[in-house]
Amino acid sequence: MPKPTLDDRIARDIGLPSLTRAALAGHRLRALNGTLARVVRESAFYAKHLRGVRLPLPSLEAIAALPFTTSADLIREPESFRCVPPGSVERIVTLRSSGTTAQPKRIFFTRRDLDDTRAYFAAGLTTLLDPGEAVFILYAASTPNSVGDLLAHAARDAGTRPVMPEPGEPFPSLVRRLERERVRLLAGDPLQLLELARFNRFRGTGLRVPRVLLSADSVPDSLRRAVEQDLGAEVFAHYGSRETGYGGGLECAAHRGCHMREADLLIEAVEPETGVPLCAGETGELVVTVLRREGTPLIRYRTGDEGRRDSGPCPCGTVLETWSGVRRIEREMLPAPLCCREALEDAAFALPSVLDVRVRLWDDRIEIVLETLSSSDYEPAVPEPLRDMIAAVRSIPVSLVVRGRSEPDLLPRRKRRIERIPGEPPPANPTLTDPTLAKSALTEPAENDREPA
Ligand SMILES: [Zn+2]
Repeated sequence: MPKPTLDDRIARDIGLPSLTRAALAGHRLRALNGTLARVVRESAFYAKHLRGVRLPLPSLEAIAALPFTTSADLIREPESFRCVPPGSVERIVTLRSSGTTAQPKRIFFTRRDLDDTRAYFAAGLTTLLDPGEAVFILYAASTPNSVGDLLAHAARDAGTRPVMPEPGEPFPSLVRRLERERVRLLAGDPLQLLELARFNRFRGTGLRVPRVLLSADSVPDSLRRAVEQDLGAEVFAHYGSRETGYGGGLECAAHRGCHMREADLLIEAVEPETGVPLCAGETGELVVTVLRREGTPLIRYRTGDEGRRDSGPCPCGTVLETWSGVRRIEREMLPAPLCCREALEDAAFALPSVLDVRVRLWDDRIEIVLETLSSSDYEPAVPEPLRDMIAAVRSIPVSLVVRGRSEPDLLPRRKRRIERIPGEPPPANPTLTDPTLAKSALTEPAENDREPA
């Protein structure tokens, strides 16, 4: 029997015999107007923000006349977005921006919000696994209703088997366990999966997994290729964020982009400066309206991510929209030829020893921290192309810290961002290429958010 498609699962979840564009559009307009009516009634923020808007909207396109919601709005008054009594909130997710002292954002989830996410995860898993097959989940799962916990429940709902990391488990026994469990899918954030892939090759453990599901707002091409090569896997990207209720969109086997969770989300692309809606094929900032959320429903929320809606059909036969080129919009540019975080990462991850690269930016200097594989017979080295790029920067001093690592760290990572350090610069630090010296000189930035993107 062929695998159920995402379309089949969505049709079932919204009570349609099969999914067509017309039926989906009708469902979405009803859901949108239901959400709009509820937010102006229950949310103090939207009661003001949408005052004067004539409801119900006559079409999905009419949403373009509504004002945007921004990250600053959520930070300023998170409680005013909440549409349910405090007793109905099952989980609160607090989001802090790395390297800043700004107030955190708070997103509220009700039981139904979490169940919707779990159902979407289960729908996605059925497209990647057959019943009885196992998925290894690298996301943190110790907190109830965290991403790892929801994905583990979703795996059972989909008739598949979740396999979880065990604290302190040595890498060789982990690999043996994954082989014994016949794991067919790995799910995690890009750096966790890169770590597993690179140590697999480096240690010669020979693990092969047919599929990898990685979730992030940007995945450098070189990282994706490394995971594919070092695990022999087909990589499927997932797009989502806490603001969209985690699940957002999933790549199909055609790998042309993500098919979005359209029964629950309305996604637009707008010109970032003017906010003007863009047509299919034009890249712009992604603006998301959630159609079913109870805790923190967001209307026309500017995600800070960019992408484009493709106009042609996907070979997989879905009626869902395909969004490609989805990535985080870079706010913080680096001096030439480093360019931006993703370009720097793309250059770094192309080298087979690199596990992680972090950038810290002061007003008058940049520090790049590189983590590489290391062992008694394999010393970490600064990759030549990266050394050349750094040497070519003229406008600001750049120091490089190299840290060798001989054991994998499979813990979930914080979001990959350029970390802007406010205030006084640290004491001057010469360019470091000696790993022994680098290890002692490294100061780790504080981790304030260990959940995946
Ligand atoms: Zn497709």
